Amino acid sequence: MRSLLVRLLSSTSSGPRSSISRLSHILSIRQVQAPMAASEESLRKALADMQAAVDSRGNAVRALKAAKASKPEIDAAIDALNHLKLEKLSIEKELQAAVSGGDGSAVTREAFRQAVVNTLERRLFYIPSFKIYRGVAGLYDYGPPGCAVKANVLSFWRQHFVLEENMLEVDCPCVTPEVVLKASGHVDKFTDLMVKDLKTGTCYRADHLLKDFCNEKLQKDLTISAEKASEFKLVLATLDDLSAEELGAKIKEYGIVSPDTKNPLSDPYPFNLMFQTSIGPSGTIPGFMRPETAQGIFVNFKDLYYYNGNRLPFAAAQIGQAFRNEISPRQGLLRVREFTLAEIEHFVDPEDKSHPKFGEVSHLEFLMFPREQQMSGQSATKTCLGEAVAKGTVNNETLGYFIGRVYLFLTRLGIDKGRLRFRQHLANEMAHYAADCWDAEIECSYGWIECVGIADRSAYDLHAHTEKSGVALVAAEKFAQPREVEKLVITPIKKEIGLAFKGSQKMVVEALEAMTEEEAMKMKSSLESKGEDEFLVCTLGKTVTIKDGMVKISKEKKKEHQRVFTPSVIEPSFGIGRIIYCLYEHSFYKRPSKDGDEQLNVFSFPPLVAPIKCTVFPLIQKPEYEAVAQHISKLLTAAGVSHIIDMSGNTIGKRYARTDELGVPFAITADSQTDVTIRERDSKDQVRITISEVASIVKDLTEEQKTWADIWSAYPHHTSTNGEDNEE
Ligand code: AMP
Repeated sequence: MRSLLVRLLSSTSSGPRSSISRLSHILSIRQVQAPMAASEESLRKALADMQAAVDSRGNAVRALKAAKASKPEIDAAIDALNHLKLEKLSIEKELQAAVSGGDGSAVTREAFRQAVVNTLERRLFYIPSFKIYRGVAGLYDYGPPGCAVKANVLSFWRQHFVLEENMLEVDCPCVTPEVVLKASGHVDKFTDLMVKDLKTGTCYRADHLLKDFCNEKLQKDLTISAEKASEFKLVLATLDDLSAEELGAKIKEYGIVSPDTKNPLSDPYPFNLMFQTSIGPSGTIPGFMRPETAQGIFVNFKDLYYYNGNRLPFAAAQIGQAFRNEISPRQGLLRVREFTLAEIEHFVDPEDKSHPKFGEVSHLEFLMFPREQQMSGQSATKTCLGEAVAKGTVNNETLGYFIGRVYLFLTRLGIDKGRLRFRQHLANEMAHYAADCWDAEIECSYGWIECVGIADRSAYDLHAHTEKSGVALVAAEKFAQPREVEKLVITPIKKEIGLAFKGSQKMVVEALEAMTEEEAMKMKSSLESKGEDEFLVCTLGKTVTIKDGMVKISKEKKKEHQRVFTPSVIEPSFGIGRIIYCLYEHSFYKRPSKDGDEQLNVFSFPPLVAPIKCTVFPLIQKPEYEAVAQHISKLLTAAGVSHIIDMSGNTIGKRYARTDELGVPFAITADSQTDVTIRERDSKDQVRITISEVASIVKDLTEEQKTWADIWSAYPHHTSTNGEDNEE
């Protein structure tokens, strides 16, 4: 729920921050968050000095020419000038390398992404939606292999989370009445800042334009000074923090115009990302397409708690579509307008956030990026989860438990451990009510991408819906023995208040009843010593005088049989499409074809994720081999192994290449009436197996009951020669 947290934060803090406090905040971040690489800074300075030297030499040459100096004198000056120009060129080259990742890696990343995306689109992992009508930005269809990968990921998600933790799964409507999203804060605050092309009306996300401008300047403009480069880095580091006015001011200051037309832009203004609709034909019930699935769980809390035997902790889960009308979706599958979310709401007693199964994950070590490390410009470090919780870096065991479970989930899917980190939200990213938040970020060609948000949202959501609906979304802890407690009792004397405040009576009474214990005790002592107290009634917008006799304040002893409280919520929220896209990138590689004149694409999906577990084909188009292939296909179907059968007359090498490109881990080649070969995708090694065993072996392999090494050592085999398929 990160974006809402950020959005809520900027508007729930006590009024707009003054520009002075904002500036000092920004400056403090400037020092810690945007340190410029020493070499880059010195290169920028050296380049500026060199430019000055070239200019002054140029002037000297001109002066010599004007003074009609001797030819040798002028030639020597020109030589010196050319020498300086060469030196300048070499610094420029070094600086260019430093700002673009040192080795042209930006270009490599772009080329790699193109290769992945081309393969994904060509093999129908996904298709731009409504393509024949030229598509709509931010909307994608999943084609057959994409659907299968998604189904596998979701099925593993259910097994790993819902089944393992006995979570209560629900399935709520996407269409949501306004009142629900009003209570949650989405109607008022789920916004991004937008600017419009003043002539064409085309919309852009204001922060994206500023971000692109700064990145472009940093990477391509070698003439900017070291100070200016620091400033651009600072802007990038504080982008999330800028108000509409500040963003607008920066856009004006840098002269940023519409990227497509170069027309001037409007001032930034908030745009609500929810798709609005109305429910029913009359148009009187406003609604929205849900921007997240979580609210469906919160509004069902009372029933789910009852279903769970009125016991805490428990978790509810939901998988479903979420809709966000992103202003200018970019980054392919990573930022879309409709996507699948899988969310867990784990309800826990705020006074006890321990987790009985934390010991099962506490030994895990992986990249963690606590906020202090981010603030001091360090990188993520491999950290033991148990230690991070013990030290308080992670706020509590339950949050830590889910971080560990998310790590196990993502790495089992095939996400590379070295490109997965857990990044803690900076203080300015978290809403005031959140206790702690960590994002599972996966590195891909677009950089580090938030794929799972894991947040301790305290009691905020249940409180909000309790207040709006009037239904108490609370839990109770029954005491074994009744406990004696001292309770504050505030009794406004309505008759006296009515006489004194007439029409405002109700608001004064409500304000008195809402006093905190500290406020009430202060008023009591003031009434006793002075006979009156000045009291601010916010709903009236003024201070009134409360006189002795208008309110009774006392503390009374009471017996309590239970403690009633609003549970805290720990929420892991998975963007399924983002995880899948990163998985595609982490699984993709190229290898040369047998004759070496072609690069072949491979997706090295683990069997768990692979869209199809196995291909079957006859070695050549012969009826007896085709019959064997058909027979094996029947055996695989009976064993529940998804497979395809390829009877085409293509060479075996071509057929292998086609299945490798879909990430099919095993291929069975029928070349005899008694036994067959199974080939493993990445090693291209092969084993000989009798037909009667083949289905059970492939089933064991794809269900990860057995490894390829197990099968390899137990059956006759041969290794691919020089990495080539023997049969190509
Ligand atoms: P949020 O509620 O903004 O924290 O989003 C929850 C998760 O949804 C994020 O961790 C992302 O993985 C995913 N997500 C958010 N916005 C989008 C989007 N526009 N397209 C695809 N996935 C998204």
